Order: sequence, then structure tokens, then C-alpha cells
Amino acid sequence: MTTLNTLSGCVSRYDPQALPVSAAQAIVLQWVTPLAASERVPLRDALARVLAADVVSPIDVPAHDNAAMDGYAFDGAALQTHTGDTLTLEVAGKAFAGHPYAGGIAANACARIMTGAPMPAGCDTVVPQEHAQREGDRVTFAAQAVARGANRRRRGEDLAQGSAALRAGRILRASDIGLIASLGFTDVDVKQRLRVAYFSTGDELRSPGEPLDAGCIYDSNRYTLGAMLKRLDVEAIDLGLVRDEPAALAATLKLGAECADVVLTSGGVSVGEADFTRQQLQTLGDVTFWGLAMRPGRPLAFGRIWSGGRPGAGRAALLFGLPGNPVATMVTFYQIVRPALLAMAGAAPQPVPLIPARCDAPIRKRAGRTEFQRGEAHRDERGEWRVTPTGSQSSGALSTMSEANCFIVLAHEASDLDAGEAVEIMLFDGLV
Ligand code: AMP
Ligand code: MG
Repeated sequence: MTTLNTLSGCVSRYDPQALPVSAAQAIVLQWVTPLAASERVPLRDALARVLAADVVSPIDVPAHDNAAMDGYAFDGAALQTHTGDTLTLEVAGKAFAGHPYAGGIAANACARIMTGAPMPAGCDTVVPQEHAQREGDRVTFAAQAVARGANRRRRGEDLAQGSAALRAGRILRASDIGLIASLGFTDVDVKQRLRVAYFSTGDELRSPGEPLDAGCIYDSNRYTLGAMLKRLDVEAIDLGLVRDEPAALAATLKLGAECADVVLTSGGVSVGEADFTRQQLQTLGDVTFWGLAMRPGRPLAFGRIWSGGRPGAGRAALLFGLPGNPVATMVTFYQIVRPALLAMAGAAPQPVPLIPARCDAPIRKRAGRTEFQRGEAHRDERGEWRVTPTGSQSSGALSTMSEANCFIVLAHEASDLDAGEAVEIMLFDGLV
């Protein structure tokens, strides 16, 4: 069995105690195997699911040459052969959407046509109605008002029969659902939903709704994790709040490996005395402990655990042991866990865009780690993005996440910044 420590050793300049975020992301992605299983679901239930196979068009879209405007369809050859500035054609028939004109159209004739209606045989051009004067059965227009082939959509122009409309790995959006429907499909093959189990650890934690004993705090990470997982459309399994007791932790980890593809824990992965999660992970699985060169969010456990309680026994699940501080939990989730879950769910890589911005305040930053400060960004009157760090950057203060609308991403090498300097921001919209 390849163990994580041998694999991680393959990464150049691997330093588990100051691991750059990009190196951690790369190791994690190397380690992830996409789920193989797929299922067929009705189109209505397919939003946000991951496409399991290319959707190949069984038809040409549009299915026939058709009019792009309301007007008169005719054979554009007449534009080359006419004499004088205007052209007069006899209106020989009507073609409406859903009611095609069945006959042919002679050289000196045309058909009244509405947008979307199939072009009658022999016609390749539409003169828009606003450029044409109708008098009884005849229509007259300036010859230069239209070029041959104008205002006609070609058969297969949007999508040719046999071509891929959407590729496997696509996370389906509203337009994709419509596109699949436009090809006549009622169902679609999607990857099975990834199952992700999660729990919080810590004797100091109480669940919301319970009385808060002296020295205790409410468990917020389980709620944040549940919400972040919901956004990813995975099947999230809440395994509750677990005390810092080796037996309870071992039982919950084994249960997680039994019922899920991925297990997320929060708390207990630093080297505190009561951090039994770390001990249990060492026993139950092939787990490595990193100090990420990242702020917030230094400690991270990553690897595999087995439901049988030792490596190789029973079902295996991927494991992420996230730091306990609430903002560190979120940042680590977005930077490390989210890309891994998407890859495992079979989704094509979805890098979150970084937007250049100007920072309105000076920032203290140590070179040698990536920082994710919370910021409030807006576009100024010239259309440039500007960002102000929200006050406290404490990794315990969740309120700074709620106040902010973006991360200010300060690169690994960057050091202190003056007000007005260029930074990059990652907007929460679409991420959070
Ligand atoms: P730990 O990594 O377990 O030492 O936790 C680091 C800090 O995060 C401590 O102050 C914990 O009280 C806090 N913390 C741990 N888990 C949670 C949680 N589920 N909800 C809120 N705070 C937490
Ligand atoms: Mg703890």
C-alpha cells in the first residue's frame, strides 16, 4: 500500500511543518480518486449535479434553416439578377413557427415568415418586415437593405448532430438543464453524490439550544461545515459533537469511514494536551499532520482512515482534520477541502477567480505564508475594485467572515503592504 508519507515525499521541497498552500493543494489532489459510480436522474433534479458522461446531441440544433427575423423569405439569387434599386416579389405563402410552408417558392416570389419558422424550400434570405412595403400580394424593398443569406439561422448552427453539447465533469447550471431539454432528453447521467461525514470535537463545546456551562462555548463549526457542504451539493452526514475521549473519537471516526467517502473533523489536530483526535487518527489510519504556511489555519490532518480501526481493514474514507478555530475551519475548507471534494465528486477543476484590487489600508504580512484576510470590497466610480480589511483578523472571530464579502489573498512571498498597493481578492459570491 502506498502510504501518504512516501507520496508526500515526492513533492519538491516538502516541509510538513511549513507546507505552502499550493503544495498542500497539489498533494491532496494527487491523492484523490474520483468516484466511479453514476446514476440517471430526471432533468428537474439535476441542477448542481456533476455530469457523468458527455451529453451528445442526437439532433441538429436548430433542426432546420430558419428565420432570425419577422419578414419575407426569398431566394437571395434575386439580389444579383434584379435591375433597378428595388425588388418587388409576390407573397406566395406563409411560414410561421410550428407551421412550415410546405411548397416551393419561385424565383420572383417570397413567403411571409415569422422568427423561428423553417425557411421554405428555395429560400435563403429574409428581408425584415421593417425594410419592406407590403401592398396586397406584393412586397417591395430596397435591394441594398439585405445581403444574400441574411437573417437566416443555419441548421445545426448552435449544435451539430453527434457533437458534445456538454462535457463530463460539468457541474450542471440552469442553462445546462435547458440545453439538455432542448436536445429532447428527459433524464441525465450524473455522478453519485459524494457522502461527507463531519463532526466537532472538544470538551468545551455545547450544542446550540443547550445551557452554556462555565468556560464553555457553542459549537459553531458543525453548522458552518454543514452549510458549506450544502453549497457543494454533497450528501452531508452530521455525526454530532464528540467529547475529547479516545474511545468516543475512535468510534465516531470508524462510523464515518463506514458511512461516508470523506470524513471531516474540526478541532484537536494541533498539539494541545487534550487533542486526542490527533492520537486516534494516528492509530486508525494513514494520516499525516501538516503545519500549513497559511493564516488563518495552520494545523491540518490529511489522509485515510478505515472503518475496521486499522489501515487496510474495512472501508476507507478520505480524512481531513480541520483546525478548531472557526475562521481557520472555513478558510482551510475553502482552500484545501473544497477542491478535493469537487475532484472526488468527478467535477472538472473549478479554480475560484482572483480579482486584482487596490487595498485602502496598510496590511502587516509576514513573507513565507499565504494569508486570507477578511475584506470588504467594492468597485469605485472608475470601475476598479477596492478593498478594506475588516477590523479584527482573529481566527476565532466568525463575525469578521459575516462582515466581509471577500478574502484578501496575500501571496506566500508577499510582505507588509502600504495603503494603495495592489492585492488580489476572492469574492465570497459563488464560493461561500
Ligand atoms: P482546538 O484545535 O481543538 O485546540 O481548537 C482551537 C480553538 O477553536 C479553541 O479555542 C476551541 O474552543 C475552538 N473550537 C474548536 N472546535 C470548535 C467548534 N466546533 N466551534 C467553535 N469553536 C471551536
Ligand atoms: Mg479541542
